[in-house]
Amino acid sequence: MRESTSPPLTRARLERDAAARGIDDRAEQFDADPTALVLLLRSGRALLTEQVEDLVPVLDLRSPAAVRALLGDDADITLRCYLGRVASTDGLDIPGEEPDPTRRQPSEAHGADGAPVEVWVLDDAVADLIESEPARWVGLRQAASQLESREAGLFTQAVAIANWHAASAFCPRCGGPTELAESGWSRRCTVDGGSIFPRTDAAVIVLVTDSEDRVLLGSNAMWESNRFSLLAGFVEPGESLEHAVVREIGEEAGLAVRDVEYAGSQPWPFPASLMLGFTARAESARPAPKVTPDGVEILELRWFTRDELAAALPEVGFPGRTSIAGWLLERWFGAPIDSSPRGWGA
Ligand SMILES: [Zn+2]
Repeated sequence: MRESTSPPLTRARLERDAAARGIDDRAEQFDADPTALVLLLRSGRALLTEQVEDLVPVLDLRSPAAVRALLGDDADITLRCYLGRVASTDGLDIPGEEPDPTRRQPSEAHGADGAPVEVWVLDDAVADLIESEPARWVGLRQAASQLESREAGLFTQAVAIANWHAASAFCPRCGGPTELAESGWSRRCTVDGGSIFPRTDAAVIVLVTDSEDRVLLGSNAMWESNRFSLLAGFVEPGESLEHAVVREIGEEAGLAVRDVEYAGSQPWPFPASLMLGFTARAESARPAPKVTPDGVEILELRWFTRDELAAALPEVGFPGRTSIAGWLLERWFGAPIDSSPRGWGA
């Protein structure tokens, strides 16, 4: 097993500072703070700095005053949400990624320690007042493989909370309109006064091995052919994570598994998932036991030894670096898997 960095999209550069969310004039304080930074978002795409060769791209964070100067006083900001304060550590005892020595690092772009950060979501007409060049607005799937990991983590947090607001305009109890509260970390029903809070959909993703440590990979009906990844599925209401692992592998592969172990997690805000990575062992002592794809979600299943996986490159596409599937598979493989140009994000 290769113990490398944390799963992708999990690094934080912020202390979430939940205590400040309810302060009455927090937004006014933010607007007046010369160290404050705004992450700009339109349709899930963030503003990045101009692409310069040999330079790692970074989020183009702006001061609130600079954004207001471009927008004018009348422009409507669709959503403002307070993300937290810049922190020098993510508070987890997980080694970070090694900086790529061939590329200059964006250290100057990280903001002062303690600087407050908000995400501002803009509609297209307003976003064009900031930057009208479409190439400067980049989606998370594309950007995550280019950004330094803590930048990608900040982008992930911004997209995840923005997605929740976009889907939560109405109260799930009475259907009344809701309004933003707690600096963007809850919404309040304007009819019954009840609060709703951001939800995350749990999904399990499983690295299944056989008695000789082959890995089971499947090809999903939604993908182009010759792409293989780990089996995954949503946790159902009233179900434990471990039961979800056993059920999903049973449904998608007709295989009984045991020794279910948690490996790590990563947010996957497309639109609102938390991927929980597990390993599991085939129940059968037989090598490469018979598996049966469900024919609906999974069209093909294959057992791979490490040599077979290496030999399948690059004709076969395996999950890319942005996904926890790629992280789990590399842990098993024991080395980086460079499946480009067919490497993919999910
Ligand atoms: Zn209501």
